[in-house]
Amino acid sequence: MENHDRIIQGMAGDGDFRVIAAQTTVAVETAREILDLSPVAADALGRAMTGSLLLARLLDKDVRNQYVTLRFQGNGPLGTVIADATVKGGVRGFVANPVPEDPLLDVEKAIGTGMLTVVRGTPPAGKPYTSQILLGGKGISTDLTRYLMRSEQIASAVLLGVLNRRDGVAAAGGIVIQAFPHATEEAIAAIEQRVKDAPPLSTLIDKLDIEDVVATVLHGVHYKQIDAGYSVPVSYSCPCSRERALAPIALFGEADIREMIEEGGTEVVCQFCGRKYSFSAHDLLALTAKHDA
Ligand SMILES: [Zn+2]
Repeated sequence: MENHDRIIQGMAGDGDFRVIAAQTTVAVETAREILDLSPVAADALGRAMTGSLLLARLLDKDVRNQYVTLRFQGNGPLGTVIADATVKGGVRGFVANPVPEDPLLDVEKAIGTGMLTVVRGTPPAGKPYTSQILLGGKGISTDLTRYLMRSEQIASAVLLGVLNRRDGVAAAGGIVIQAFPHATEEAIAAIEQRVKDAPPLSTLIDKLDIEDVVATVLHGVHYKQIDAGYSVPVSYSCPCSRERALAPIALFGEADIREMIEEGGTEVVCQFCGRKYSFSAHDLLALTAKHDA
């Protein structure tokens, strides 16, 4: 599959609206392969991944290395769903139970109701900013729209879509339209109508470039891509490392670590990318030495 995944942005309605859009087909298909996602899990995680990319860009205050993590903790069969993206276009995800028993569930039921935690920050320095809202069970777009309104005072419309085919993810992406405070009620109503009338986003992304998808959704409303050069490539990427994999083990009690040493070492598998990190008894002994110090 050719990779055209990217984030673009533009202005609509004579500067009343900011539009950020992302094509994430290959990134979501990569997640499906790595994490062995069922179609409904790919749909849910694909929307969450796209949402985290859009939010990382939307909430970026020129920090340039901001990340946004979305943690959905619902009572649906998928369990916890995590998506993590940077403003530079790196994104990764995790689904606790990627193959629910009922394969025909929709995303809303598969996630269920519960809590959405949004964390954003700028590594390595800077305290992350965390907020929580209740998951309404009406879909990820609705949850993100509510989050933006309640926690960020941003009036927006969020569209997300994933198209699954027999052989994998055929299309994925999303659009967020932010209304600036000076937008008139009339202009907002016109945009809302376009969003309501738009065909399912995933079928548009399946056929068109993301620029044309945005133009199709906003047809009749003046739209232009600000800074046509703004096109950030998106890819599935995980910043895990041996050092980071070892950190949680260091928090275990001494007895647990001794047990691992007796077993000759331990292996940590990254839940986002599947990379395996092996730690020998020798590596673990070094940890207990730190404990003793
Ligand atoms: Zn990883």
